[in-house]
Amino acid sequence: MEKSTGMILEHTGEEYDRYYNAIVPPIFMNSLNIFPTVDAYYDSDKRDIHTYCYGRVQNPTVRILEEKITELEKGSESYVFSSGMAAATAAVLTACSAGGHVVCIRTAYGPLKDFLMNYCREHMQIETTLVDGDDPAEIREAMRDNTQLLVLESPSSVVFRIQDIEKAARIAHEKGSLVYIDNTFCTPIYQNPLEMGADFVMHTASKYLGGHSDIIGGTLTVRDPRLGEKVRTMREQLGSIIGPMEGWLMMRGLRTLEVRVKEHGKTALAVAQYLEAHPKVRKVYYTGLASHPQHELIEKQQSGHTGLLSFELDCTTEEAKTFCQALRIFKIGVSWGGFESLVTMPYARENEETCRKMGAGQNVIRIHCGLEGTENLISDLEQAFDQVF
Ligand SMILES: *Cc1c(COP(=O)(O)O)cnc(C)c1O
Repeated sequence: MEKSTGMILEHTGEEYDRYYNAIVPPIFMNSLNIFPTVDAYYDSDKRDIHTYCYGRVQNPTVRILEEKITELEKGSESYVFSSGMAAATAAVLTACSAGGHVVCIRTAYGPLKDFLMNYCREHMQIETTLVDGDDPAEIREAMRDNTQLLVLESPSSVVFRIQDIEKAARIAHEKGSLVYIDNTFCTPIYQNPLEMGADFVMHTASKYLGGHSDIIGGTLTVRDPRLGEKVRTMREQLGSIIGPMEGWLMMRGLRTLEVRVKEHGKTALAVAQYLEAHPKVRKVYYTGLASHPQHELIEKQQSGHTGLLSFELDCTTEEAKTFCQALRIFKIGVSWGGFESLVTMPYARENEETCRKMGAGQNVIRIHCGLEGTENLISDLEQAFDQVF
C-alpha cells in the first residue's frame, strides 16, 4: 500500500529509539558534533544521514524535515533553508553560470525577479526574459541556446495564473535548460511538479508548511541526486541552512499541513463563490472556481486549492483601500499561509502599465482565508461592503 500523506507528515524520518523513544524529536540545538578520534572526524561522511559534524552543514532535526519533504514532493533529496528566498537563490546559483539566460514568468515572486534582473544581470551577465507563461509557445519562443533555467510559479500568487508544467518542462529540457517551480500555493498536498518534469521544487515554509506565522524558512527538492549534491554544497557554502529552532517549529507545523490546507481551501472556495456573486465585485481570481479561464489545465495538474485568492471591486484604488481598512477579522499584512486571515493590495503602488502587464487592476485586493471559520469571514466581508458602499 502506498504511504499516505498523513503517514509521511507524522512518521517519516523519525527514529524514536535514537532519542529515548520520545514521540517528538528534540531540537538539536548544537553547532557541532564530536568524534572519538582524529581519523573518525576526517572519515565522517557528509552523505551519511547519521553522521553529523557541523551545524552549518547538517542538523538532525533539520534532516527529519528533509526526509518528510522529499517523500511529500516525490523527489530524491530536499534541503531546508533559512527562508524561501534562500532556497530560490540557491536554485538559481546552482543552475546558472555567467553569461547565461533565464526565462521567468512575469508574475513570479517579486524579490526573486529582482535578484535575476538586478544582481544576476549586473554581476553574472545573466539575462532574464519575462513571459506571461500561459501559452507554452511563448515559452518556447523565449528560450535561447544559452537558457539555463526556466522559472515557474503555478499558480502565481496574485492573479493565480497557471502554466502547463509538463509542456513547459518538455520545452525547457529540449533546450537543455533546467526547470524551477515555486509550489508554495498548492503545497505538496495538491501538486507535485517533479512528477511533471520540474527539476527544482521550492516552497517557502514561512507560509503553509510552517502554517503558524512564527517562522521564516524554505525548502528545495530535486529529482536528480546529482543536482541535489550541488544544492547541498551551495547551501553549505552560502551558509543558509534553517536554524534548529525554526526547523523544529516547521516540523510541528507540518504535522497538521494536510488538515489545515483542506480547511483553508474549503473556506476560500466559499468566500470566492460569495464574492463572485456579489454585485460590487468585478472579478475573482481563484483556482478553485469553475469560471477560471484555465479550469481544464488546473484540473489536470492540481488536486486542490488552498486559502489565497484575489478580487477586484467595481471601485477606485482609494475606495478599495477603505474597504480593506473596514475589515475586522482580515488584518492588513503581507504574508499568508498561517492560521489568520490577511488582506493586502499588492498593486496599489504600481502604475497602470505595470498593472496591465501583471494581469490585474491597481485596486486588486488579495486575501488569505484563515481558520477563523467560513461564516465569520463572509460576514466580515459583508459588513465591510455595507460600511463602504
Ligand atoms: C513569501 C513568498 C516567497 C518568499 O519566501 P520567504 O520565506 O519570505 O523568503 C516566495 N514565493 C512566494 C510565492 C511567496 O509567497
